[in-house]
Amino acid sequence: MQFRDLKTQYQHLKEDIDREVIKVMDNANFIMGSQVKELEKELAEYVGVKHCISCGNGTDALQLTGMALDFKKGEAIFVPDFTFFASGEIVSLLGATPVFVDVDEKTFNMSPEKLEKRITQVLEDGKFTPKAIIAVDLFGLPADFISINKIADKYGLTVIEDGAQGFGGRIKDQVACGLSSIGTTSFFPAKPLGCYGDGGAIFTDNDEWADTIKSYRVHGKGDNKYDNVRIGLNSRLDTIQAAVLKVKLNAFREYELEAVNKVAARYTELLKNVDGVETPLTPDGFYSSWAQYTLKVKDREIRDSLQTTLKAQGIPSMIYYPKPMSTQLAFKEDIRYLDNLETTKELCDTVLSLPMHPYLADEEIEKVVKTVEEFYK
Ligand SMILES: *Cc1c(COP(=O)(O)O)cnc(C)c1O
Repeated sequence: MQFRDLKTQYQHLKEDIDREVIKVMDNANFIMGSQVKELEKELAEYVGVKHCISCGNGTDALQLTGMALDFKKGEAIFVPDFTFFASGEIVSLLGATPVFVDVDEKTFNMSPEKLEKRITQVLEDGKFTPKAIIAVDLFGLPADFISINKIADKYGLTVIEDGAQGFGGRIKDQVACGLSSIGTTSFFPAKPLGCYGDGGAIFTDNDEWADTIKSYRVHGKGDNKYDNVRIGLNSRLDTIQAAVLKVKLNAFREYELEAVNKVAARYTELLKNVDGVETPLTPDGFYSSWAQYTLKVKDREIRDSLQTTLKAQGIPSMIYYPKPMSTQLAFKEDIRYLDNLETTKELCDTVLSLPMHPYLADEEIEKVVKTVEEFYK
């Protein structure tokens, strides 16, 4: 059994992907070929925003956003304590200070209540100027942007949606990556919409940010790339990856997103009565793209032995994430506020992600569930 079955997906899409990739090679338009523009247009339409700017990966998408917003020394950027390293990494890389916020114990996403407490704490402390919030759509579930945007307005902060795992999710009819004034995603192969290498994108309605990001993406270009008006990056999406993504976006829209939601619903239906496991919660009005299907169990010992039991049956599982951001050695110079992070600590000891992808067969789901059930007997 595969944790995320990219080989089966390729077999389903092979004819179209092979044809489109070969077309790029025939035309030799490897950098910024027409497929990149076409993909950006389709993605912007899907998300419902004016601009999509593709780039080299999801981390660059966040970094380019932080550059456009001018993150700098002395500024506090609020980041969930329970996420992938990149969400906080780019903050430190740009010289600002990541301030970690605990997550909600049910949704695993940034807790709006704890966010507001943290903002107040930083303001009272007076050492850093609050600038922005990076809220993550963890495991495919959009963060509570309705509450987070309100808090941001109250304190004059910008909200960035790190939708690396969230592409395809929704809150009511608002699509992920467009849930705040600027959003980013990743096309890393195992993400909800993945390419065959690295890739990423930024989404916004803001013309000025979009122009600045397009400049930063290509060496801070002005009128052209030999006219340089700012220090930038080289972070473009390859034409080959854009060609792959155009085919995959169709499959994603037409059936994969729905299929992955059916898998999640099946898991939850079969697992909800197993005493000892907590299945993931999708609040009313929210729709997930299920980057992960993550269980919560009683403690670390049980989690680790459940993982061993699954492995013995040939079932892969993953621990996302084993460590809170605030305990990462890399942030040791930056860490200021370490109180009120208990939920993240507990989750790092008790979560376990099960195999999850649109091509997971019913028999596979049943085998996973049976193994979990037997473990608890
Ligand atoms: C994967 C991921 C990123 C980084 O994306 P890359 O394309 O791997 O650079 C950023 N944030 C989150 C939450 C992620 O899961």
